[in-house]
Amino acid sequence: MAKIGESEKKLLEAALKAMRNAYLLWGFRVGAAVIAEDGQVYEGCNVESWVSGLGTCAERCTINHAVLHGNHKIEEIAVVMDVNSHKKPMPCGACLQYIYDFAENPKIKVVTANAENGRIQFETVKVKTIEELLPFPFRK
Ligand SMILES: [Zn+2]
Repeated sequence: MAKIGESEKKLLEAALKAMRNAYLLWGFRVGAAVIAEDGQVYEGCNVESWVSGLGTCAERCTINHAVLHGNHKIEEIAVVMDVNSHKKPMPCGACLQYIYDFAENPKIKVVTANAENGRIQFETVKVKTIEELLPFPFRK
């Protein structure tokens, strides 16, 4: 288990709460939460569609939520996945790029964890920086 502070706990709990609202057709529940440049926490969940590729991941939903409130930078993100359907919580490649695009700097933390029966499994928490997870981001 990674050592985490109050800000990581707060984000994980917000992501867990958002995960309950995931809109599923065939996949698994994911919740995410960011601390944005205004200091507020914004949450999101995955939203699926019958049309492949039309739905959105929780991470991008969360960042869009922060943007909706006038933020263009995030300082940290937490992602929680339902353990009953997915064992290794990790943002997909598209979301890693999206997180990088909105990251305050390449050192922002990406905190991941599994959830089971409505609780964070704190022994599964991992903390990495976005540059560790995406060392070669797309840039123009
Ligand atoms: Zn994704």
